[in-house]
Amino acid sequence: MGFHMQILIALLLGIKRNWHIFVGLILGVICGVIFPQSQYPQVHKIFTFIGQAFINIIQMIVIPLVISAIVIGISSVGDNKQLAKFGKKMILFYSIITVAAVTIGALLAVVMRPGEGAKEFINPEIAQELQGLVAAMIQDQHSHIAQIFLDLIPRNPFYALSLGDMIPIIIFVLVFAVALAKIGEINRPVVSFFESVFAATMKVTDWIMYLAAPGIFALVASSISSFGVTVFQGVGKYFLVVIIGILLQFVLVYPLMLKIFSKVSVSKLYAAITEAVMVAFGTASSSATLPLTITCCEKRGISSKICSFVLPLGATLNMDGTALVQTVAVIFLTQAYGIELSGLVIAQIAFLAIVASSTCAGIPGAGLITIALVLNGIGLTPEQMVVGFSFLFALDRVTDMFRTTANVTSDAVVAAIIADNANEINYELFNNPELQKDII
Ligand code: ASP
Repeated sequence: MGFHMQILIALLLGIKRNWHIFVGLILGVICGVIFPQSQYPQVHKIFTFIGQAFINIIQMIVIPLVISAIVIGISSVGDNKQLAKFGKKMILFYSIITVAAVTIGALLAVVMRPGEGAKEFINPEIAQELQGLVAAMIQDQHSHIAQIFLDLIPRNPFYALSLGDMIPIIIFVLVFAVALAKIGEINRPVVSFFESVFAATMKVTDWIMYLAAPGIFALVASSISSFGVTVFQGVGKYFLVVIIGILLQFVLVYPLMLKIFSKVSVSKLYAAITEAVMVAFGTASSSATLPLTITCCEKRGISSKICSFVLPLGATLNMDGTALVQTVAVIFLTQAYGIELSGLVIAQIAFLAIVASSTCAGIPGAGLITIALVLNGIGLTPEQMVVGFSFLFALDRVTDMFRTTANVTSDAVVAAIIADNANEINYELFNNPELQKDII
């Protein structure tokens, strides 16, 4: 059976099993269109309130979940050699996927030229209120590229915890967990403690999933209703390029990765993670989706040992969808302003997009903030940069929903490949959806 057919079946299977989230999503789109924010500001406020409440509820358990998952993941791998092997594979596969994403993004943007003729639509007024903020952000990122990396090392892990800064938290927890794995039996009380924390956070995730359908409905309705149709005018091609690029990740890159490096069936994997992908679309946050990504993968046959090691790291570091959108967005701006890019500068943009995407947090809009890093040295005047970037900012939520689905799916793809290679998939369960428990 062809890949495309398999993917279609996967989607149908997944939707059947999770029709209530899917219905929430579709109703969200419909209500978002029927109640534009400009005409129904009160309705938009209600959507936003409910959606934000849902995101807050999921995010409440993300930090304990990430910490406990990494600690038990690493200590259950135990053996240093195996840990290093998993780590190397993880970095290799995440890198291949992200390089593929920026290549696709750059090629599509160069061939389809989404920015051509878009300058007249980059109306300085559209994103006026954002411009002060954006100018400060660009300034900040330009002057402090070294500082961005320094900030990833937590001087005080509790401070990073209180800010919810995921990368510094993960760096500390990784070091701590490897140390725990090295000290032998004496680690038992601490590991047992985190095992209990993990089990409890998974239980809370089960409860939260009862709220998924209304939560996703409200989030999608709120995002769609805040986009006036006028904002899309003249930049439809930009969205098209982004959507085609993300789609190619789903129908080409992930299936190829699975086929080349494992015997995992792409359709089975997509069916297994459908709920997570829908929640990623609604929340536009890999971190907020993480509890569900772990639940889907574990309940459907990928071992907890691999999930708890690979998925939390992926949710923070692996952002192929973001890298793709950043590449397209920057090339879009240069085309809009009539700047011709050499192959070398395009390669530089793609490279910086890989760096920028992996330093960005798994929260809504984060990818657009780190894009300032990529905007460096491509020939835009400071004013063009601020106006153009503010404009992208105003369009960001929709592309964010799409890119986050890729970010989350690629995490699961890499987890599945590593689990397959290490004999850590229960294929009996994974290949038989009828044996799998429903998530909700
Ligand atoms: N929202 C994305 C995520 O959470 C990050 C971004 O591209 O803004 O994965």
